[in-house]
Amino acid sequence: MKGFTTKIVHSDRQDVIEHGSLQKPIHATVAYGYDDARDLAAVFQGKQPGFTYGRQVNPTVEALQTKISRMENGLQTVCFSTGMAAIGTMLFALLRSGDHFVSSTFLFGNTNSLFSSFATQGLKVSFADATDVNAVAEAITEQTKLVFVETIANPRTQVAALDEIGELCKKRGLIYVVDNTMTSPYLFQPGDVHASLVVNSLTKYIGGHGNALGGAITEMGCFDWSSFENIYATYKTGAPQTWAITQIKKKGLRDFGASLGPEAAHHIAVGAETLALRMERQCANSQAMAEYLQTHPAVGPVYYPGLHDHPQHARAKTLFRYPGALFSFELMPNTDIWDFLNRLKVIIKSSNLGDNRTLAIPVAHTIYFEMGPERRASMGIDESLIRISVGIEEIQDLLDDLAEALSTMG
Ligand SMILES: *Cc1c(COP(=O)(O)O)cnc(C)c1O
Repeated sequence: MKGFTTKIVHSDRQDVIEHGSLQKPIHATVAYGYDDARDLAAVFQGKQPGFTYGRQVNPTVEALQTKISRMENGLQTVCFSTGMAAIGTMLFALLRSGDHFVSSTFLFGNTNSLFSSFATQGLKVSFADATDVNAVAEAITEQTKLVFVETIANPRTQVAALDEIGELCKKRGLIYVVDNTMTSPYLFQPGDVHASLVVNSLTKYIGGHGNALGGAITEMGCFDWSSFENIYATYKTGAPQTWAITQIKKKGLRDFGASLGPEAAHHIAVGAETLALRMERQCANSQAMAEYLQTHPAVGPVYYPGLHDHPQHARAKTLFRYPGALFSFELMPNTDIWDFLNRLKVIIKSSNLGDNRTLAIPVAHTIYFEMGPERRASMGIDESLIRISVGIEEIQDLLDDLAEALSTMG
């Protein structure tokens, strides 16, 4: 099975599945009983496969983990209750006080907030312009253990120098973490650029329906964890490729407990079946909407990697199947963004992204409000910036909605 969607819809049935069920059943249980106490002990000690307690693993969640590994062409995956839990738990499990990591400066707002919090807890972080590999290289110090980047940054759609940063990390022996949320494994395979670990917020495109939160970390198998000093001796069992994911699962998930529940795992697994179909439509809609807005007199700059004048247009074309399903734009000075937003009838004013419905949000006044004007300016976020997460509606309805909302402007 080679096709992306074939792999997803036939994933569960490659393992033992109860009663030949076509969907992995929801295992609504916390604990698991054993007839022989020796088996219980062997499972606890990792000598035998099986389930112990729901904070670390559940059969429905495990089936989703396997599915995500197949989608990313990775080795192993651990799921979490949210994307933020995935990022936070991973860094908590892998880094120690005094360790330094380099992050892209163009960052999902909550990840930016998380990294600032880590900086008060003994981890050191430097932000660098990840569209330029030299800026990332300059930020590396003796204490640097890890580099963190997003594929397409939200909301300004900067595309990181993913392949060059991958080469740099390989050469310097650094852990390379790629947050693939904005592209999803359908548009981009971080394994192609030597990513060590891949982050996905399952809440967004993979789940796709805005009905469940979830996150995942996938081990890609190319980093030599035997050379990484922060792995505890107890987790150095089996192939070194699996040590980090074991530590994230055992230490991270156990200590923090931000586990994905079986019901959410089921919703996400069902959503994932149509990832490729949704993405095709969402990306086509995005391209058409961005091109339309670019020609409208009431609209200022439009930021979408699928537009020829986007600074990383060529890079996006090389790296990604399509340039994503999210774009942002500014209105001309003296136009009222509130009036524009309130005139939209099909497009919903909402903060999520990756939903089947098209959503719009005034970025500086909402999701990036708390960080203040200075940090906003450093991320290139204008006060009038509007972000559109494009859904699967028919394109004419979306274009008509934009046209109507803009009709009194410009
Ligand atoms: C949404 C998002 C996250 C966080 O995911 P949640 O599931 O909302 O916690 C992380 N990274 C990126 C790029 C995101 O868009």
